[in-house]
Amino acid sequence: MSTIPTATISRLVTYLRILTSLENQGIKNTSSEQLAEEAQVSAFQVRKDLAYFGRFGTRGAGYTVPTLRRELRRILGLNRPWNVAIIGMGRLGQAISDYPHFEQYDFSLKACFDNNAKVIGQTMSGHQVYGMDALPQVVKEKGIDIGFLTVPQAAAQAAADALVAAGIKGILNFAPVVINVPREVHVEPVDFLAGLKRVSFYIINPGLKEELA
Ligand code: NAD
Repeated sequence: MSTIPTATISRLVTYLRILTSLENQGIKNTSSEQLAEEAQVSAFQVRKDLAYFGRFGTRGAGYTVPTLRRELRRILGLNRPWNVAIIGMGRLGQAISDYPHFEQYDFSLKACFDNNAKVIGQTMSGHQVYGMDALPQVVKEKGIDIGFLTVPQAAAQAAADALVAAGIKGILNFAPVVINVPREVHVEPVDFLAGLKRVSFYIINPGLKEELA
């Protein structure tokens, strides 16, 4: 398979959310036009995004909601459970661990880590906090696949290195710094302050917004 634009993967996540909502409403069929309207893209864009992965639906008849939803879940790797861990149990790490709906999305919080002796051994949101030295063993024992990185900027690279050494293949990085990892590991930056800067740009430049593709 050739490479696929990151924006396409982001839109697949949006289409899946829309399909889940349609399915919950008992709606059986949809079209690229309906998905496009709800995702605020063009119908051409929807068809192009899906075409990277094969042929879905029938010309003229559109898509069967449960089938397309099942296919998108398979494409996104959501047809299996994922075990996640949080590294850095400060303000953000604790807020994430308090989020009660992980399971609903097939992501299961299995462990929390920190390097502060005052926090290690405590129970937070029902999870024991382990020290970083326990990371390799706990990752292996609990089958952890994905790490939330919620440590300060200066600690992010070393913490990411520890995750990679333990065999983690995916990192959601909340620290405002670029971290280097081997090619087979995917890092997804999550930076709401960067989002705020884009909002500020578009508030002062309303005419520079991209038209629907
Ligand atoms: P915090 O200081 O409250 O918590 C950081 C935690 O990481 C602490 O518990 C600390 O003991 C732990 N830690 C430090 N070094 C570590 C290491 N080497 N290994 C393991 N644990 C370590 O910070 P916060 O406000 O929760 O923010 C965490 C990260 O998220 C920062 O990089 C911050 O810039 C980013 N961020 C925070 C927010 C927010 O709203 N709090 C928003 C956006 C981004």
